[in-house]
Amino acid sequence: MPVHHETPSYLTPTEIGPWGIYLEQIDRVAPHLGALSRWIETLKRPKRILIVDVPIERDDGTIVHYEGYRVQHNTSRGPGKGGVRFHQDVTLSEVMALSAWMTVKNAAINVPYGGAKGGIRVDPKTLSQGELQRMTRRYTSEINIIIGPTKDIPAPDVNTNEQIMAWMMDTYSMNQGSTSSGVVTGKPISLGGSLGRKEATGRGVFITGCEAATHMGMEIHGARVAVQGFGNVGAIAARLFAEAGARIVAVQDHQTTIVNSNGLDIPALQKHVAECGSVAGFKNADEITDRSAFWGVDCDILIPAALEKQICETNANRIKAKLILEGANGPTTPAADDILAERNILVVPDVLANAGGVTVSYFEWVQDFSSFFWTEEEINARLARIMREAFAAIWEVATEKRISLRTAAFVIACTRVLQAREMRGLYP
Ligand code: NAD
Repeated sequence: MPVHHETPSYLTPTEIGPWGIYLEQIDRVAPHLGALSRWIETLKRPKRILIVDVPIERDDGTIVHYEGYRVQHNTSRGPGKGGVRFHQDVTLSEVMALSAWMTVKNAAINVPYGGAKGGIRVDPKTLSQGELQRMTRRYTSEINIIIGPTKDIPAPDVNTNEQIMAWMMDTYSMNQGSTSSGVVTGKPISLGGSLGRKEATGRGVFITGCEAATHMGMEIHGARVAVQGFGNVGAIAARLFAEAGARIVAVQDHQTTIVNSNGLDIPALQKHVAECGSVAGFKNADEITDRSAFWGVDCDILIPAALEKQICETNANRIKAKLILEGANGPTTPAADDILAERNILVVPDVLANAGGVTVSYFEWVQDFSSFFWTEEEINARLARIMREAFAAIWEVATEKRISLRTAAFVIACTRVLQAREMRGLYP
């Protein structure tokens, strides 16, 4: 039977945006999926897309409307799961890609979730706390029809944090008429959040970094590390590497780049960012004004932990690191992936390197359901075990098939998702 697929217009990338990058990654994995590849189209289409209007009254009495999204890419293996991003550049295509990477990530580390993501196209720095709360609550009410503890569970992402999760949990609970702590993860501890969740993504970056370094014969002690993005992921990863004896020689955020070849004082930098909102103006470091110079900094390990498409054809050749740990989602374009592979630079892909966050989100959700909470030691030990086992399995497939760690992670993940799809069959 000939296969006939009509491609909806929103699925056709007009430029190599995040969704285009994801589609190229899927094309690279397809030849390794054997008979399951007949289901591949499943992975190229989000299951459900919701676009919502989010109107709020600003403090000065004006009414403004923001565009919000929630995309459930795939739920074959369990409920949708993925963060919510507040950023002025959020687009539907970006949220689609981020939701798809969640499907792959959750399957790669084998937590029982599908993939989802949400976002609002807004610069939250322009809002007062009251406006931020009203916008978060209205957005939650609008997506209320598709989220829930067994349907789709949001979490923090860029510019969202535990306070936003608390407002989302409260809004959902008010709509339901009962307290529902399992509807979001990344909540404050006082509302059923999990110990270790805030640090989990950065900790996972560190754990996978140590595994990769061991395979490469690289010492973490004394290694020079450059980090792009000094938020939840980048700052924690930097702190853990520094605690292990590495030198953090460069940090770039949305405002500037700071360098110190002797190593930045990370706890002091965290304090500075908490007070000033940026790494700019930090003492004991030099600021460099040319943003692109960050990519040419002398270092052994590079951690992109900000936004997508940061490592591309124009800078992949300048990178001096031997190891790249993708704290961010989608930081490397497929063309850059090829350049890095040619230059023998090892990339630990996002779907593995930053999976620590969703792993502890899974622990949080399990703890909420059982109303029984674990110690931080238990959480960190379980996190480390899951990350190390996932790393080993992906490393083995990559070695056996002579493919990149990214394609190997996709092989394992897509096989799991499509097996579930096939076993469930098509409804009706
Ligand atoms: P965050 O909001 O806490 O921090 C973002 C950081 O990136 C800030 O330091 C900001 O200044 C910097 N930044 C923003 N734009 C930049 C630019 N153009 N150039 C350089 N730096 C820039 O966000 P986060 O939660 O740390 O997320 C960072 C990345 O990690 C995102 O790609 C996100 O999807 C991914 N991620 C986050 C989690 C999580 O648990 N928070 C889990 C998995 C993946």
